[in-house]
Amino acid sequence: MTHLTTLDELNQHITLLASAEESEAPFISCYLNLEDGPDSCRETLDSRARVLRRILKGDDLTDLEYALDNIETWLATDLLPEAKGVAIFVRGNFGGAFMLPMQFAAPLPNWIAVYPTPNIYHLVELKDNYHRYVVLLAMPDWASILEVNLGAATTQAWINRSELRKRVGSEWTRSHYQIHQTHRGEQFIHEKIAVLEKLMGAGGHTHFILAGDPEITQQVHHALPKALADSLVDVIPAAERDRWADVVMMTLSNFIEHEEQESQTIAEQLIEGLRSQNLAVADSAATLDALRWDEVDTLVMASNYRPDPGWVCSSCRTIGTETPETPVCPQCGESTVRPLDVREALLRLAGQLERPVEMVEHSDGLMSVGGVGCLLRYRVDAPNENPSGIDQI
Ligand SMILES: [Zn+2]
Repeated sequence: MTHLTTLDELNQHITLLASAEESEAPFISCYLNLEDGPDSCRETLDSRARVLRRILKGDDLTDLEYALDNIETWLATDLLPEAKGVAIFVRGNFGGAFMLPMQFAAPLPNWIAVYPTPNIYHLVELKDNYHRYVVLLAMPDWASILEVNLGAATTQAWINRSELRKRVGSEWTRSHYQIHQTHRGEQFIHEKIAVLEKLMGAGGHTHFILAGDPEITQQVHHALPKALADSLVDVIPAAERDRWADVVMMTLSNFIEHEEQESQTIAEQLIEGLRSQNLAVADSAATLDALRWDEVDTLVMASNYRPDPGWVCSSCRTIGTETPETPVCPQCGESTVRPLDVREALLRLAGQLERPVEMVEHSDGLMSVGGVGCLLRYRVDAPNENPSGIDQI
């Protein structure tokens, strides 16, 4: 059954794509933006296909036609009306047929690449920006709990106050009724919090946004237990008459902003780690080494990190970050060196190791140390201080 790709599925797909070995045929990585409707990507697809048909020859051209056919068929039959972004990875028969389509409520850019391995940058960026969170939408007489997963909202629970109100007996005196009403109000707040706590625990959620009637959200906010209060991203006013889609959009822009602040904090941690404690490394070469030695806790990458091409040897698979000057491999001596997309190579290694990647926008500090780096799992000491080279903290 066709459905929007969830965060859990995206995580699995990133690992799968990052582990895909190169073969005789290249991968077509096709990202499409559908914010202006299903036909809005048509021009990108057609113009890119025209250019690629001129460049590719023989088996590569046959594979391209196969890939384009598959993409067109999938778009015609499986695309959902609510999809705003599509990512399709295809390889033709000559390289071992492969097809992995995904669709998201979150937008992706229009971008099509032909490369020996899948280009996963935009998937990693989407995952980092949108991730997932919970919204508690609280009104005087009802509350609902939504999960927003890669930009797509689904209702998880609905709590209605009228059921509680009906149980208040009509024979009671007015003052008795008012006391009871206050008590019922508190009970309703605590009921909401209990359901929220249960859903967040079960789903492994770490972030939530409180939205709704300002008075009610304030009461809920004050009654939150510490663990939930720590997970609260923001409180957003919303009225009964507001469309749910608009409320979800408000929470999304809020969440993305919060996520960006978290990224800035991680970039600052990286700079601090470099400065004082040997708990971080930076620049393309050091990051590649840390990933190769599985020392990485989090890969941190500036959104405008654009390294020069590095090299990869098709014979022994060695990779390096310096721009190649000859086709001779320094490792095995074969003349099989070709240029490497360093940014993709780092993301592939992080994907294979299932390490988190933090994308950071506008960080002068990160750009000044090469635009990329990583927080390390271990303190890496100078060799003369510690012969083993690493120290577990
Ligand atoms: Zn080699």
